[in-house]
Amino acid sequence: MPPDGPARRPILVSACLLGISCTHKGESKANPVVAALATDHQLIPVCPEVAGGLPTPRPAAERSSGGRVRTADGGDITDFYRRGADQAVALARAAQIERAVLKARSPSCGCHQIYDGTHRGVLVAGEGVTAAALRAAGFEVVSEEDL
Ligand code: SF4
Repeated sequence: MPPDGPARRPILVSACLLGISCTHKGESKANPVVAALATDHQLIPVCPEVAGGLPTPRPAAERSSGGRVRTADGGDITDFYRRGADQAVALARAAQIERAVLKARSPSCGCHQIYDGTHRGVLVAGEGVTAAALRAAGFEVVSEEDL
């Protein structure tokens, strides 16, 4: 049985970083550094895009400077992203997480840079929908590249 107390403080983690095949391509982004956090933390996986009601696989999407999330053919799927963000924030509150470790550059989970919404591979400073919602709710958010 794992130890209780501060050594096992919960961390919310992008599910793809923990080996779940939930990216838009149906792949995982398993990261051994993230997995190693389980030594002294309770890791709580969440995929906001799936939690928001999107299927896997699904079309690639990007968040524009105006905050809307669109697929390459212009489909506006912002509402799915917002629902997923709400779910992630609710989970973070319920679990009283210490912080969130989220996948870099995702339109949901990215917390430093995201693609600019043009679907041309252009990165800009910005946050994904869930990263922004968690930060607005007062939670610390980092990417796997910050570990
Ligand atoms: S929404 Fe987040 S957890 Fe889900 S696949 Fe994208 S980066 Fe991973």
